[in-house]
Amino acid sequence: MPSQSRITLLGLLLHAFSSTILAQPANPAAIPLTDEERLWIAAHPPIRVGVTPAWAPFSYSTPSGQAAGIDVDILDLIATRTGLRFRVVPAACWDETLTLAETGEVDMTTGTSWTPARERLFQFTRPYYRSAVVIVTRQDAERFSHISLLRRASIAMPRRHIVTSAVIERLPSASMFLVNDQEECFEMVARKQADATVANVFTATQFLNEHPEARLKLSGVVSEFDFPLRMAVRRDQAALAGILDQALASISQEELDRIANKHLEFGLLSVHRGALLQRRAARILLFAAAGGAIALAWIWALRREVRARRRVEDQLRASNQSLEVFSHSIAHDLRAPLRAINGYVNALKEDYGGSISADAREMLDRILVSCRRMGILLRDVMTYNQANRCEAELQTVSLHALVQQLIAELPPEQRKHFHVEPNLPEVLAHPTLLAQSLDNLFSNAIKFVPPDRVPNVNVRAETTGGQVKLWVEDNGIGVDPEHRERIFELFARVAATEYPGTGIGLAIVAKCVERMGGQFGVEPNTGCGSRFWIALQRAPDRHAHDALLADSATARPHSLSALTRCLRRNRRVAEE
Ligand code: ADP
Repeated sequence: MPSQSRITLLGLLLHAFSSTILAQPANPAAIPLTDEERLWIAAHPPIRVGVTPAWAPFSYSTPSGQAAGIDVDILDLIATRTGLRFRVVPAACWDETLTLAETGEVDMTTGTSWTPARERLFQFTRPYYRSAVVIVTRQDAERFSHISLLRRASIAMPRRHIVTSAVIERLPSASMFLVNDQEECFEMVARKQADATVANVFTATQFLNEHPEARLKLSGVVSEFDFPLRMAVRRDQAALAGILDQALASISQEELDRIANKHLEFGLLSVHRGALLQRRAARILLFAAAGGAIALAWIWALRREVRARRRVEDQLRASNQSLEVFSHSIAHDLRAPLRAINGYVNALKEDYGGSISADAREMLDRILVSCRRMGILLRDVMTYNQANRCEAELQTVSLHALVQQLIAELPPEQRKHFHVEPNLPEVLAHPTLLAQSLDNLFSNAIKFVPPDRVPNVNVRAETTGGQVKLWVEDNGIGVDPEHRERIFELFARVAATEYPGTGIGLAIVAKCVERMGGQFGVEPNTGCGSRFWIALQRAPDRHAHDALLADSATARPHSLSALTRCLRRNRRVAEE
């Protein structure tokens, strides 16, 4: 890809070439037209001009279809100075322009080089532009630095151009591809359909600047070719040729430079550069629009998925809630008939125990045991539901105070087996949920100990960073490694049947701890037994949170007494 600095250097080089052209005194007003010439100009209709299409910077079409280029600006200048009027007759290619001139459909052409053959039909003006001819190849192709190196190459050239005739004559052994215009030649080289093309240096650099993606380069200069550009006037318009000659002679070097700079890609005022930038901007906009459309479609699809998910979540939440309400009301409503059965069976035993057989009495006892079991199950189901539904706003809770209180409420024969580490820390927790969790862990630690072993329960805490891990360690039957996660699920019971239970206790622990944002688990104890743990956030520093402390100081007795009431109520239900 040609760099901007290379192009600027090239621009200077081209100026050196063009500086030999039309070195006329800058006296535009002094065009010594004869009266005859003035009359001819006044009487003559607009001159029909044929220009080379797609031959920037000399002649090309603007995006709006207007003829533009160095040749067109020179015609404008001539029109201003002489009063001549010009009309550009469009053509598809240079070949067609020449045919129009030959058939008399145009009066003159611009950008034409002299040849003996053309001399028969046209009268040529003085040269108005001279520029180098260069070899253009692909950047990765072998370097054809000299025209002679192209003799076995395939060369794309525009039909009926003077340079084309010169190349054919100079390289008879080369394969020639003749196409409509120079631009097509560049494209063929870029597409690897030809090895090279030979072109006017301005046209070549213009294409290279406009199409860096074509990856073409200027490979060499053909110094032996010199085809200055002239205007060619049909022989039957001889007066016109004389006027044009005088007008061209009046154009100064500065004026010509100004015109050339306007149309060269590296000229700041280049109309073409504007069109190029427009095209690039359009391409960027197109990519941006395509990217935007894809992003929008993606966002739309994501939003649809999120909405669908939310709907399913809402439905799930609603059905969970109704299940909870259902199970809670079932558990609640079953308690009254259960109490009635319990009461009637006790009454039967009391009133008629003496008059019924021993078997019948045993059956009544079994009914009472079943009632008791069912009472415990109903209590656990209700507690589980409560853990799920109550507000879980966290506050500072003293583990020390809570654990002491819970142990103090245990029956004395159990209380003596607990060994609590002094000064347990404060945690951020919900007092009732935490009390419920610890109560279940404590009762399991006593329950799951074989009858021939004296229970021994240690309660201690570890503080790491912002977290407090509370351990409840027992010397019971332990938990098999494969059941360590399952036992926290609802109704999961893995111990032998001699250890009564509902399989809800640890599910309540899991639910309560999750609601407080904590974690839980179990590990084997050294020797025998298990070490259950729950991890909670450490309470904020006392001094830094005076306000919170003040709140928790009043909240703690209230919460503890509330939870004590709650636990007592649970036990009463179980004992009933
Ligand atoms: P439950 O105690 O009513 O059976 P839990 O949910 O409290 O229900 O416990 C579930 C199961 O986990 C128990 O059945 C038991 O197998 C096991 N488990 C719980 N705590 C202990 C413990 N401290 N030692 C050994 N196993 C335990």
